Formats: sequence, structure tokens, C-alpha cells
Amino acid sequence: MPARILDGTKIANDIRSEVAAEVKTMSAAGVRPGLAVVLVGHNPASEVYVRGKVKASSEVGLYSEQHTPPESVTTSELLALIEDLNRREEVDGILVQLPLPAQVDSKKVLMAVDPAKDVDGFHPVNVGFLSTQRPGLVPCTPAGIMEILNRSDIPIAGKEAVVVGRSDIVGKPAAMLLLNANATVTVCHSKTPDLPAVCRRADILIAAIGRPGMITHEYVKPGATVIDVGMNKVTDPAVFHRLFGARLYQNAKREDAFRGKGSTLAGDVHPEVAEVAGALTPVPGGVGPLTIAMLMFNTVKAAKMRRGSCVAELTRK
Ligand code: NAP
Repeated sequence: MPARILDGTKIANDIRSEVAAEVKTMSAAGVRPGLAVVLVGHNPASEVYVRGKVKASSEVGLYSEQHTPPESVTTSELLALIEDLNRREEVDGILVQLPLPAQVDSKKVLMAVDPAKDVDGFHPVNVGFLSTQRPGLVPCTPAGIMEILNRSDIPIAGKEAVVVGRSDIVGKPAAMLLLNANATVTVCHSKTPDLPAVCRRADILIAAIGRPGMITHEYVKPGATVIDVGMNKVTDPAVFHRLFGARLYQNAKREDAFRGKGSTLAGDVHPEVAEVAGALTPVPGGVGPLTIAMLMFNTVKAAKMRRGSCVAELTRK
């Protein structure tokens, strides 16, 4: 039986509606949560991401503002901007779109963001809160993975979870969230020997690698839940053919789009895994939409945590 496809777009839309309802209540009470996005220079991919984030903010009713320093910006100029945003009461969330230009000390800039406004959840203070199970801001993509699992009624406690990838933004926080939810967690990376055998232990397999279609059927225990975080732009027709060429995975729409645009978006999980897994997130339409939805969620969470009693008091009226 083919895997149940976990519809990330629907889950993300549900979360956005819930966030919009909260923003409405808070705004009516005089506390409109606000997000400030910092986009340096003209990186086309970053511009697309930021446009999506600003559009989503306005759709859920958040106050949002965009800051666009030039490519030539210095570390101290960016630090001054962050300090100003840290100080401003109407800004609850600060998002610095990465990557920053080479002359900027990115770590210093990210460290300067007030942890209470760190809606990306990258600040070491929030990393510490996550690993010690204290309330804080959790990175958006891993938080989105947990929403997919929970809202799809996939049991986590007591299950074997294997995370492939140990980045600070996806792999490590995803592993920590699964551990906090009482899974038995293994984290794998490029030096892990016999990766397919380790992955086959998983009831829940998270692929956050950045290699199109690397996770094939031999990595997957029959019936496992497979979460595909990968977002890889495939331009090589041979790779396209390896992933989508077999008659079973032929997808006329995708093939037309590939011919027209010369590229397609592919996950880290090979489409053939749908024949083995119990449940699977698609790419696109799986984890991707959750990332922006969780950014919206985090901005409201930051507003509530930061303005604490004030929000509680106002929304009670
Ligand atoms: P990253 O920082 O490049 O980390 C990749 C991880 O995969 C590393 O830990 C690396 O191991 C591991 N890896 C690479 N090749 C491997 C191999 N052959 N065997 C085992 N492990 C291997 O990437 P990332 O930022 O975590 O992103 C991962 C993927 O998720 C990318 O496709 C990215 O575009 C996507 N992503 C999607 C979203 C979304 O919203 N859906 C958000 C963020 C990222 P080492 O540590 O040993 O090098």
C-alpha cells in the first residue's frame, strides 16, 4: 500500500488561520504583534524568501517592516540596526535573512538579536532553553516538523527516531524536539558508517541532508514515517530521470515544468520510498510551507512571552 501523504500545505494553512485569529484578538486589545525583517543586498533567493515572509505577515495581520541595507553594509552598521530593533517596543520579532555578505560577521550579528525577539530560534540562549526544556523560541523548520507529526497523529513517545543531518538550523534542533517528546533519537551525518542500516531502525526518519533523492527504499523500514526536509533545485536531466523517470513516478506536470523552466524542486527522499513508508511528506508541499507558518507562530509567541502579563490583561477584557 502506498504511503499516506502528509499534507504540509493544509497543516500550514491551519496554523496560519489559528495565528490570524490570535493576532485579531490581540490587535483588538491594542497589542498588534510586529515582525522586522532585515534583508541585506540583492540575493535573488533571499529576496524570494523575504517576500514570502512579508506577504504571510500581512495575511495573518501582523505589523511588519522590512530593512534593506546595501550589500556593502558593515558589521557595526548592522549591529546598530539590530540594537535599534531590540529597543523598539512595537517590534516583537527580528529576522535577519541569511546569508549575510562575506565582510559581515554573521555570528556577531545573530548574537546581537535580543533572545526574546529571536523568532528564528538561532540564538544560543534559545538553543539552551530548547535543550533544557524551558519555554523559548524554537527554530521554525524543526518546529514545523513536530506540527506535522503531532497533527497527523503520528506517535512519537517511545519510538525510534533517526535524524540524518546535524545542522544548527534543522538536524540538531529536530533531534532535540524529538528527544523532548520522548523518542529514542539517533543523529547521523556524513561520517556515519552504514547509514542505510541505521536509518532502517527508524519508526520516524527525518532527512535533512541537501542531497536530492539520497534516501532510497533501502534506508526505510516498512511502515516508517519519513519526513523529507530537503529542498534541492534539480537542473541536471540525469538526476531528474533518476528521481522521476521510472514509469511509476512519472508526473506529467512536473516533467512539463522541468522542460519549461529547466529545473524542479526535489527532496532528499527518493519518490520510490512512497512504496515502503507508512507516511511521507511530499516536496514541494510538505515541510516547506510549515517554515513560514511557524515564523508567524513564533512572532505571536514572542509577543506574548515578551509582553507577558500585559497581553493576558488586555485580551481578558
Ligand atoms: P546543511 O547545513 O548543509 O547540513 C547537511 C547535513 O547533512 C550535515 O550535517 C551533513 O553532515 C549531512 N550530510 C551531507 N551529506 C551526507 C551524506 N552523504 N550522508 C549523511 N549525511 C550527510 O543543510 P541544512 O541547512 O540542514 O539543510 C538540509 C536540507 O534541508 C537542504 O536541502 C535545505 O535546502 C533544506 N531545508 C529546508 C527547509 C524548509 O523550509 N523545508 C529549511 C531549511 C533547510 P556533516 O555535518 O558531517 O557535514
